[in-house]
Amino acid sequence: MIRSTKIVATIGPASNTLEVLTRMIGAGVDVIRLNFSHGMAADHRHRAELVRQAAAACGREVAIMADLQGPKIRVGKFEHNKIQLAPGEKFTLDAAFDGLGSQEKVGLDYKDLPRDVKPGDVLLLNDGLIVLTVDSVLGSEIRTTVKLGGELSNNKGINRQGGGLTAPALTAKDMEDIKTAMAIGIDYLAISFPKSATDMELARQLANIASDPHGYRAKLIAKIERAEAICSGVLEEVLVASDGIMVARGDLAVEVGNAAVPALQKRMIRLAREANKLVITATQMMESMIVNPVPTRAEVSDVANAVLDGTDAVMLSAETAAGKFPVETVEAMAAICIEAEKSEVVHLDTDFLEKTFTRIDQSIAYGALFTAYHLGAKAIVALTDSGSTALWMSRHASHVPIYALTRNLSSQRLMSLFRNVTPVRMQSSDDRDTSLREAEALLLAKGVVQRGDCIALTVGEPMGQPGGTNTLKIIRVGE
Ligand code: PGA
Ligand code: MN
Repeated sequence: MIRSTKIVATIGPASNTLEVLTRMIGAGVDVIRLNFSHGMAADHRHRAELVRQAAAACGREVAIMADLQGPKIRVGKFEHNKIQLAPGEKFTLDAAFDGLGSQEKVGLDYKDLPRDVKPGDVLLLNDGLIVLTVDSVLGSEIRTTVKLGGELSNNKGINRQGGGLTAPALTAKDMEDIKTAMAIGIDYLAISFPKSATDMELARQLANIASDPHGYRAKLIAKIERAEAICSGVLEEVLVASDGIMVARGDLAVEVGNAAVPALQKRMIRLAREANKLVITATQMMESMIVNPVPTRAEVSDVANAVLDGTDAVMLSAETAAGKFPVETVEAMAAICIEAEKSEVVHLDTDFLEKTFTRIDQSIAYGALFTAYHLGAKAIVALTDSGSTALWMSRHASHVPIYALTRNLSSQRLMSLFRNVTPVRMQSSDDRDTSLREAEALLLAKGVVQRGDCIALTVGEPMGQPGGTNTLKIIRVGE
């Protein structure tokens, strides 16, 4: 059974062995996420090597996504690693304090926080499990009253309800990490907490400078996790400046309130697809599988609904990084996706009603999709260099699987994230007709198509020019 929706899995202590990674990739992981919030450059390099080895052992390619830490604002450490806060207690966050925290106060890694908050503000710690209201700000000290108490341990995150923290999206650490990521040869770079398109443009410049010596360009994913980034108009601009977005529900829920997130998820997925961009749905998708061998009913529904919303990929964080059942989680998630896809509604005819397009390659991509759907073709086969034809085709549901044949290894890896696209490596010849025959033979040999099946092929002539797709051919295999 082929699965359209892709799976992104985070690597961590629970999965950074060749054995576990190979089983995870065998179970269906398409993209591995390196979380730069944890670990040193050498750890990421080592992990990326393991990923490439594990993928090779499975006979396939996966993409690697480096996820930068960004300006996550955190409390410092405590003398006894953690404290218990009870409602009504007074607690101070002190940006000038660099000792070990106590029941009364703790330090802060982001020194500007006192300038960003005012009396009456609500601060959410540890993903909103602890709520503090700001009573006063005195110099470096933010004095608060505990609204919702609980355990607060070392380095937990802080968000302000409603957003509005001024920390820049790229920290000095992120800038170093970008260099590490590009030297590793990652495929996607995820930027944490961008507030605007400008943040993404800056990240793109830094990424390009860092990757130029290595002769390639990474694609950029904007993690939408700040209230500012989902304002009407801003999200659209961020999309233009990015190659894709992540519905980063963890931090977003804390900033906008968790009840607002499901509707925002639908809007983000729709806008991303309309803008010809990628979208990943992330955080707590299979959370209970960190400790249990099966998901909850609610998690099953959550993953299925993200699939029906049209996400390119669903993401696993702690489930595969630190959970007890990394392989089982991937298996369960894959099964949920396959089942949900069966009930995905296709409305290609109305999708195209208001569409105008002026590019030749784009017209061919849509033409292939539309024709293949109406003819009931077995497959769409796109001979593509950069993957852009496959990207256009994959922005609409059609239930016709897309095989993207490329001679370019980095395009093959990038397309691992595209919904409904199976990237295949093919050393095509420079002659169009020879290449088309080779493509047909390859898919026949792989058992993807049978003799007599109708397939739609797209190709550019002359071959090998990015954006050069100008031909659509409908054939019966073997005739
Ligand atoms: P994180 O981002 O896991 O890096 O915090 C995702 C999210 O906030 O949902
Ligand atoms: Mn986050």
